[in-house]
Amino acid sequence: MRVLVLNSGSSSIKYKLFDIVENKEKILDKGAVERIGEKIPDHRSAVNIISKKMDNQIEAVGHRIVHGGDKFSESVLIDDEVVKAIEHFSSLAPLHNPPSLLTLSESRRLLSNIPHVAVFDTAFYQTLPEYAYLYAIPYEFYERYRVRRYGFHGTSHRYVASEAARILKKGIDKLKIITCHLGNGCSITAVKHGKAVDTSMGFTPLEGLVMGSRSGDLDPAIIPFIMEKEKIDVNRVIDLLNKESGLLGISKISNDVREIVKKSKLNDKKAKLALDVFLYRIKKYIGAYASIMDGVDAVVFTGGIGENQPDLVRRVLKDTMLKDIKVLIIPTDEELMIARDTYRIIRKKRL
Ligand code: ADP
Repeated sequence: MRVLVLNSGSSSIKYKLFDIVENKEKILDKGAVERIGEKIPDHRSAVNIISKKMDNQIEAVGHRIVHGGDKFSESVLIDDEVVKAIEHFSSLAPLHNPPSLLTLSESRRLLSNIPHVAVFDTAFYQTLPEYAYLYAIPYEFYERYRVRRYGFHGTSHRYVASEAARILKKGIDKLKIITCHLGNGCSITAVKHGKAVDTSMGFTPLEGLVMGSRSGDLDPAIIPFIMEKEKIDVNRVIDLLNKESGLLGISKISNDVREIVKKSKLNDKKAKLALDVFLYRIKKYIGAYASIMDGVDAVVFTGGIGENQPDLVRRVLKDTMLKDIKVLIIPTDEELMIARDTYRIIRKKRL
């Protein structure tokens, strides 16, 4: 089965074309249409460019959708109802769901006679227990507005957790795994017996670990304090926390770990401090997740930093009290996971 995977970001669409036969996947083509909004007018034109590159043999399309709210606990075949639900959750992910919806509607129009499947970043976290996803704020905000932990990067965490089980030659239902996705965005997930039981990103991707330019956890009282001191509005503060904080905010060098590591080797004090804060937060979460799962068999690192900075990975687990844990570095492959889900859903439907 030929499956096209579309991964829409705010200014780009990445695509991969797979040929899947039973459990074997082959990549036939891959690429990206970038600078949407500049060189390319919008996501619809980008989809047109991609579809022109494809021959007529695509049998299904898998779409990455960031926010499926609390409605989708797994990947689904797309129909008008599903599209409506994704639209509904746009208010929870205003930067992510709208471009995906444009991609979705245009590709459904152009490739109208084949099935389309939605794979949600949030779906993996629908197994979190209520006490892990609920914030301790007045309960009516959850009831009225669905304010809760959703979690993101779910497809990546799900993929590396299943790869870890395969590498360890054990059933995932027998393992306690902590997965660390460390890219520009960073998140960490506790996977107990194959199910996510907690994760660091929250209502939005801002919570949790220190990231390239996002703060991660902080005392919310800092927000009005800074607004008053700096005479800025709330949108500006949120912008600061998303784009000017994290590794960039502390180091004042870059959001790119490579630059910071380079400078820290030259004894730059702020570069060293940024890395210390970054690694400390990861170590703290690993301890917390080992505690809630009552132990841990393996810690997995993935994402640009996790896959390429073994020295940093080593520092996270140096002098850890956790004994007999396996440490694995596994390259993530969200597109492959999306292709597999799409294949599985279409196969089941055809049977
Ligand atoms: P995104 O989250 O945008 O997909 P990545 O997963 O590529 O980004 O992660 C970006 C981070 O990974 C940067 O901090 C970068 O320094 C680091 N990184 C990416 N590739 C490498 C590499 N080859 N060597 C060292 N660090 C890398």
